[in-house]
Amino acid sequence: MIQKGTIKKEVLFSGIGVHSGKQVELWLKPSSSGEIIFRRIDLDNSEFHLDPKKIEAKNCSILVTKKGRIQTLEHFMAVLFMLGVDSLILELNGEEIPIVDGSAFPFVEAILKAGIKPLQEKKKSIKILKPFIIQEEDALISVVPDSDFRITYLIEYDHPAIESQELSLSINKENFIKQIAPARTFGFLKDVPALRAQGLALGGSLENAIVLDERSIINGPLRFPDEFVRHKILDFIGDLFLLNSSIIGHFKAHRAGHSLHLKAVHFILDNPEYWTYE
Ligand SMILES: [Zn+2]
Repeated sequence: MIQKGTIKKEVLFSGIGVHSGKQVELWLKPSSSGEIIFRRIDLDNSEFHLDPKKIEAKNCSILVTKKGRIQTLEHFMAVLFMLGVDSLILELNGEEIPIVDGSAFPFVEAILKAGIKPLQEKKKSIKILKPFIIQEEDALISVVPDSDFRITYLIEYDHPAIESQELSLSINKENFIKQIAPARTFGFLKDVPALRAQGLALGGSLENAIVLDERSIINGPLRFPDEFVRHKILDFIGDLFLLNSSIIGHFKAHRAGHSLHLKAVHFILDNPEYWTYE
């Protein structure tokens, strides 16, 4: 078992919410509670605990409570997971984590610069003991025992700039920082009117997403030839942070997304016979 951690000093992020389109300031504050707590200073300092039962998926992962919501959690949660930050107060004056450049890298840089302080409390590790499969239409996640934490992700898009991409990676801090955190989110120009009609992607721009038209990438170059599948792994790591544990097992995703990622999280939490704490 490894120790939980917090940050050594406060960090401020200022930026736009990709879905709300609103400017937001996010202050990260050290905490010894052993939990991730959000504090909405625009809602009388209402506090929300990160709880997998209160997460909804709708183009992003959203914490929904009676008092309010926090959306676009996934990139930030992936960074907390991989840098070992389990204990933190996130104070924000809006309902969305800033999208920064569409990747997780600016969060990684700022948290590493602030430094990470180990806490007394130990972090548990979920070790997968038996295989299982979660399916949703033509999407699938299969989970099998392994000696390591590994993600294999396969995406298939009917678009000449993406097509089929597969990547299998051992998920650890070093691989995350170099191979996954810089991969940006992406979107299709043709989907923008429908998303905006639902109040989504209002802050999406060429500065915070890879944007594709019918045939090509509008705002290249890419950071990796397979940046799209790398970003899907980033999203999956972020959603797996909800397990509040390290992971020992191999997660294989095929055409998945936040909704299926969350189903895998709930399956694990609801079916303890498939795993053990180590
Ligand atoms: Zn994403």
